[in-house]
Amino acid sequence: MSQIEKHPPKAPCISAGHQLALEWLKAGPKRLLIGGKWVEALSGRTSQTYDPSTEQLLTTVAEAGVADVNAAVIAARRAFEASSWSGISPHARGHLLYKIADLVEKHAEELAVLETLDMGAPLSATRGRALQVAEIFRYYAGWPTKIHGTTNPIDASRFQYMLREPMGVCALINAWNVPLVMAGIKVSAALACGNTVLLKPAAITPLSTLRLAELIEEAGVPAGVLNVLPGSGAIVGTAMAEHLDIDKISFTGSTSVGRQILNASTGNMKKVTLELGGKSPNIIFPDADLDRAVLAAVDTTCRNSGQICSSGTRLFVEEGLYDEVSERVSRLVATYKVGSPFEEDTKLGPLISRQQMESVLSYVHTGREEGARLTHGGSRVGDQGYFVQPTIFTEVNNDMKIAREEIFGPVLSIIPFKDEDDAVLKGNDTIYGLAAAVWTRDVSRAHRISRALKSGRVWINTYAEGDSVMSFGGYKQSGYGRELGAESIEGFTQTKSVLMRL
Ligand code: NAP
Ligand code: MG
Repeated sequence: MSQIEKHPPKAPCISAGHQLALEWLKAGPKRLLIGGKWVEALSGRTSQTYDPSTEQLLTTVAEAGVADVNAAVIAARRAFEASSWSGISPHARGHLLYKIADLVEKHAEELAVLETLDMGAPLSATRGRALQVAEIFRYYAGWPTKIHGTTNPIDASRFQYMLREPMGVCALINAWNVPLVMAGIKVSAALACGNTVLLKPAAITPLSTLRLAELIEEAGVPAGVLNVLPGSGAIVGTAMAEHLDIDKISFTGSTSVGRQILNASTGNMKKVTLELGGKSPNIIFPDADLDRAVLAAVDTTCRNSGQICSSGTRLFVEEGLYDEVSERVSRLVATYKVGSPFEEDTKLGPLISRQQMESVLSYVHTGREEGARLTHGGSRVGDQGYFVQPTIFTEVNNDMKIAREEIFGPVLSIIPFKDEDDAVLKGNDTIYGLAAAVWTRDVSRAHRISRALKSGRVWINTYAEGDSVMSFGGYKQSGYGRELGAESIEGFTQTKSVLMRL
């Protein structure tokens, strides 16, 4: 008898956090959070959320509608005006955020597993993101005691000062690609400033946001300060954008929906922050450290299976090294494993949905029709789950559809350029302006190009690194306003000038 026959196969060994995530899923359908209570939707409607790796049902979630948005706005307004929130000291608000950070850290594995199950990113990545969320809460926990106005110079007969105050009731609407981090960024900064919030995760990925909300409740945030409303964008998102008693919208998603939100928000002149799409240039000069540049180009193509707004989807390479870099990128990407997001060596999990997979594959088809050369990938992997190979196109012209439109999948276009001016011209030739990178050992050139590129973020000799202190947001059609760093604080506050005649 072989060893295998003697011992029946064991269930895969999973961590305690993984076990907790599965128990949480089994505990029953998930609800909306309104006014400090977990409730069914007033309509009684529910929706299902699925695992994009297995296409299996994960759980049922209450589906908010317009009536729930109205109820949540009333709860959030009441909480905003109550002294239990507006009256507490900035120190106490900071302590609360630190407490949330500690709870997020304690439950990081559980949150990471839920995120992986719901949206498919490798567990190795979602673990890091859960810990990042704890750090973001810690960063904003330091802010309440430092949000201050100014006293302004004026003649001796008058006294003039400026107060910096919260916006009021804020609606936070998120995309599905990095739900936990997006919820963390928006909620931490909004609460640090003393606002109350309505949070809408994407209908397709509500789970990590709902669990995060439970932890925020556990930390002791007063009832109504945080309300969570999973539901469809067309209904819940529109109701938020149109609502006359919501003061601010912070939205992350596509440029087309961002435009609709802007239009819908004019009724009461809401303040709007929009984090939208991108088609970011990643530019390699001949004097770059090519090993690092090639690795970063492949990583940004594959990270989150390419479903990242700031991915470097247009790789610009100086003509003289175009063939070498194209070949090295294609060879390296072939070593990246596509597979179960729970296997440690997996680099690419599934795409979020069948629809997204079909959209990405149709862009691959378009790229071929346009005459670009496919050097790696281009196909679905397997027939269960929405797995797609990382895909490299060379001989791409910046005017091709695959170089102009946001694909939101693991598809890279490699484009040649002649010189510095040509690189900047082509890099900026896009409706977007979210991120960009330049690879060179020439310090002057690095700074010249960083200044010339029209985007909200520029990396020099790296890609995709970030920090809570570093703001993020778009030039051009990549958005309005900024998030993270001090700029989130500006986005979630407004100023009041007070003048007194002495
Ligand atoms: P999306 O379709 O624009 O959806 C984003 C959110 O808006 C979802 O919660 C969606 O709800 C909701 N929504 C849909 N229609 C709405 C409407 N008419 N009014 C109000 N809300 C509405 O974007 P996505 O497909 O989820 O995400 C991918 C996009 O997000 C990409 O373009 C990507 O570049 C961008 N993104 C940008 C950043 C950034 O920081 N700049 C970060 C991540 C992603 P439902 O989906 O639940 O119906
Ligand atoms: Mg899902």
